[in-house]
Amino acid sequence: MTHFDYICIGGGSGGIASANRAAKHGKNVAIIEAKDIGGTCVNVGCVPKKAMWYGAQVAEAIHKYAPEYGFDVTLNTFSWDSLIASRQAYIERIHASYDRALTANNVTLIRGFATFIDNKTIEVDGEHYTADHITIATGGRPIIPDIPGAQHGIDSDGFFALREQPKRAVVVGAGYIGVELAGVMHSLGTDTHLVVRKHAPLRHFDPLIHETLVDMIHAEGCTLHNHASVEKVERNDDGTLSIHLTNDEVLEADCLIWAIGRQPATDVIAIENTDVELTDKGMVKVDKYQNTTAENIYAVGDITGKAELTPVAVKAGRLLSERLFNGQKDAHMDYSTIPTVVFSHPPIGTIGLTEPEAIEAYGESEVKVYTSSFASMYTAVTRHRQLTKMKLVCAGKEEKVVGLHGIGHGMDEILQGFAVAIKMGATKADFDACVAIHPTSAEEFVTMT
Ligand code: FAD
Ligand code: NDP
Repeated sequence: MTHFDYICIGGGSGGIASANRAAKHGKNVAIIEAKDIGGTCVNVGCVPKKAMWYGAQVAEAIHKYAPEYGFDVTLNTFSWDSLIASRQAYIERIHASYDRALTANNVTLIRGFATFIDNKTIEVDGEHYTADHITIATGGRPIIPDIPGAQHGIDSDGFFALREQPKRAVVVGAGYIGVELAGVMHSLGTDTHLVVRKHAPLRHFDPLIHETLVDMIHAEGCTLHNHASVEKVERNDDGTLSIHLTNDEVLEADCLIWAIGRQPATDVIAIENTDVELTDKGMVKVDKYQNTTAENIYAVGDITGKAELTPVAVKAGRLLSERLFNGQKDAHMDYSTIPTVVFSHPPIGTIGLTEPEAIEAYGESEVKVYTSSFASMYTAVTRHRQLTKMKLVCAGKEEKVVGLHGIGHGMDEILQGFAVAIKMGATKADFDACVAIHPTSAEEFVTMT
């Protein structure tokens, strides 16, 4: 039996951040990780996805924009293999830097799958570990639907394991992952179909955003099939798939990717041996301090089902350690007004309330909306003009900016700074008081009338 001050189960975004911060405050800390250090984000999430997205940006630059910027581009081949090799080498460097940080902080990395024996004891490969404080940061895994032939499809983990570029792919799902993976594959040259069961992907985003996204997909993206679900999947003798949709269409493809959401990994860690309660969706129930219903057991990140984003898991993990081990009694994560980017083509950035949400919260007469629509200069210099659309949602007499939404070239990098202003409670007048930076897309946010 080995005892620690603090154990984090799960070496992903939340677990690593919390463990390192606790160790910096002098605690004897362990992380238990069943797979690769870095968790979903580093291995099968944000990082490999963004590398592929950058690859897709390069493809778009070469095919669409380079000739009219004066480059005579003769393109022979695209090597999926090389892109994957560069991506994986980058991930190996991240693993090495995580290992160095854990070593420097004296955090013990226990490799293996953890299950609870009781509220204070964890078992990994027959060894028992105890701790004064335990954090569950075990994340989630993709959902596969319960329909005939579903097993012929892969999930986002499977996508990152592909060693050959599919010629024809079908992606099912209307969330971040469906939109991002379909966009990447389309831009890299795969004949890609996106199947969504309602009218649009990202339908909970502001209407300006999802309506523009749909227009752009129709204009230059993959093939969108809306109001359609998959009924069954058949594998043909030649290895290809026939994907039968509820609207009687049959799509033929080499690869089917399920992107219909993720589920918590609470069902396999013997949580029943603890006093930790779960929500009806299997997430760990936590209060605003990340306390579970069991004394001295906490949870952070995707497993809590709140804003499933890496920086959220990281911040919640660090603040928890500040509270537990550095005397910051009230330290806790603020889950309101979280900025987020979808790495679509072009990217989407959004923070705060959508227009319908603001009207619901403040009443129609209290909400004023400003919009801007223009072709981003990067694309407007060429024939491939691509729209940028932006919206500010303001509330009350003082026109506090309660929502900011944009789709267009550079939105991924534009959002962070504006998010600081919104978090500080900026009004439309504050935005207007800031001198524009010209010529940029971002300047539109401070010049809207
Ligand atoms: P995870 O990172 O999932 O880590 C959990 C870890 O626990 C895993 O390593 C797992 O192996 C380990 N584990 C589980 N059970 C056990 C056990 N019993 N014993 C030991 N170890 C265990 N977020 C963004 O902010 N930006 C993005 O661009 C972005 N892109 C994404 C793209 C994809 C395809 C996906 C799937 C997700 C993406 N996300 C993105 C979301 C982000 O990856 C997650 O929100 C984040 O990784 C959550 O961190 P976590 O610590 O809660 O869990
Ligand atoms: P999401 O929950 O975001 O989206 C999945 C969508 O698929 C649902 O919203 C739903 O949309 C649709 N869906 C659900 N069930 C079915 C079904 N049975 N058949 C068909 N469609 C279905 O999940 P994702 O897997 O896309 O992503 C998980 C989370 O990971 C995200 O919410 C996000 O927090 C995080 N993430 C963040 C990224 C980023 O920051 N850039 C990138 C990737 C992931 P509808 O109801 O409209 O049909």
